[in-house]
Amino acid sequence: LNDHDDSFTEDLGAYVLDALEPSEREAFEAHLRMCAQCQTEVAELLPVVDALPLAVTQAEPSSELKTRLMSAIADDGSGRPSLVPMPGGAPARDRRPLLSRGEALLGLVAAVIIAALGIWNHQLQNQIDSQKQNIAYQQNVNRAILSGASVNQLSATSSGSTAQASVVQPKDGSSPYLLVGNLPAVSGNKVFELWYIRGTSPSPVKVFRYSGNAPAIVPVSQAAESNNIGAITIEPGPNGSKAPTTKPILAGKFKI
Ligand SMILES: [Zn+2]
Repeated sequence: LNDHDDSFTEDLGAYVLDALEPSEREAFEAHLRMCAQCQTEVAELLPVVDALPLAVTQAEPSSELKTRLMSAIADDGSGRPSLVPMPGGAPARDRRPLLSRGEALLGLVAAVIIAALGIWNHQLQNQIDSQKQNIAYQQNVNRAILSGASVNQLSATSSGSTAQASVVQPKDGSSPYLLVGNLPAVSGNKVFELWYIRGTSPSPVKVFRYSGNAPAIVPVSQAAESNNIGAITIEPGPNGSKAPTTKPILAGKFKI
């Protein structure tokens, strides 16, 4: 393999968008066959271009540039560059490039931005959904407390810990909510697990993730019963454990 020559770098974007003049394309492909760096970059750019039709349906870009870019991409498959070096040389191309090299590069930049926007929109929507959900949980908890729910505080088991947790059990026996805050930071493969302990036998109730220190509400499906002990341990994720494998970080007796 040859050393990379920077003069080919600017052809990369135009190449994946099929926008090189035939002579430029031939020269670039000759270089591409010899250059690992350009092969890698083409391999990275091609999926971005291929993903465009998906990405743009999520965002709403309507620039002339996008139209031209999309028409360049949708134009045909025959002229699409292939990563596999062609033994017989580059296929003959007799049509004019659809975009100038400068336009193609701009188009590629736009393509990446459009794809990013789509992902961003999607993430924003998820955030809004989870905020809405939190507000709904909070309303449920408020309503439950107003109608006489018992709030069962779990106490941190190590001195100096500021971890907080309470199990809010609605009076009607419906599903409780676990309120947590300031839980210790754990590595990404660990989860928190809530247990109900009757006598000495713990049953797994809820596996959840928590980070930061803001209060969070975790819905729980199993009603808390008086005199059971609630406890939270740190367990291997993502599924937690069938029985506690670590000492509880919080524990408390339910008085319902
Ligand atoms: Zn190169």
